[in-house]
Amino acid sequence: MRASKECPFCPGNEEMTPKAVAVYRDDGVFVDGETRIRGWWARCIPNMYPAMVPDPDAPTPEWMAMPARGGHEVIIESPDHESSPAIFDDEKIIRMIRVYADRYRYHTDRGSSYVSIFKNWGREAGASLSHTHTQLIALPMIPPLLMREVSAISSMPSCPYCNIAEREASSERLIFREGVWICIAPFYSQTPYEMWILPCKHISSILEMSDSMRLELGRSMKKALQRLSVLLNDPPYNYMIFQMSSNYHLNIRIQPAISKIAGFEKNTGIYINPVSPEQAASELRSVL
Ligand SMILES: [Zn+2]
Ligand SMILES: [Zn+2]
Repeated sequence: MRASKECPFCPGNEEMTPKAVAVYRDDGVFVDGETRIRGWWARCIPNMYPAMVPDPDAPTPEWMAMPARGGHEVIIESPDHESSPAIFDDEKIIRMIRVYADRYRYHTDRGSSYVSIFKNWGREAGASLSHTHTQLIALPMIPPLLMREVSAISSMPSCPYCNIAEREASSERLIFREGVWICIAPFYSQTPYEMWILPCKHISSILEMSDSMRLELGRSMKKALQRLSVLLNDPPYNYMIFQMSSNYHLNIRIQPAISKIAGFEKNTGIYINPVSPEQAASELRSVL
């Protein structure tokens, strides 16, 4: 296993981080005490610069605002300094999905309205450290993006994601299938080479998955990231898990951070994407 002396996420440097709220080892899940726990395969720590905290100060009375009540964690998915989900084996990838589910459950059980799980890979995509990690931000409200989506879904006769999964499973935008999951270049891709991974089975969150579904999801994420890495030479990217406790259709969106969000996008919320999803899917299919 490769390690770096300066990296706070590497084994041996656990004292450089706040105490872990969950340490995953072969013999169970633990919480750091005065002495940091070693021998882990995944570790979840409070973010050093949290966007949300359990006991926030009252917001200013000057404007309408909500207190930033919630949680902000970093999940270190592997002790290996040089590894990443694109090269994880089956055991490592299913462990990663299990940790996501475990922390998702922890925060939803404690009343968070929305739990955002996302990964920033590469400096241009927002990662400040190169050691592989995922972030989790637990919110006291459903964010506007999801509110808008949920309200649109509730006005439709059936689930639009089920419709997308059924139609795209045999379209030219399909990149690959893995069990009940499909990986597609969505018709309305926001960025070049955007990929969506979604199940052809209606589930709202990561908690509704069997172990075999989790493994297939992990394999899908690995395959998608591997293809992206080969095609675009390990580009910076973000992936986000879109999920809700109920009445939703879970999906994962992978967006390479290779195009700039500039004036037009900021002025209009409309994205210009120079690569068609059909072209992106064809290139992503052909690399492996
Ligand atoms: Zn490291
Ligand atoms: Zn559905």
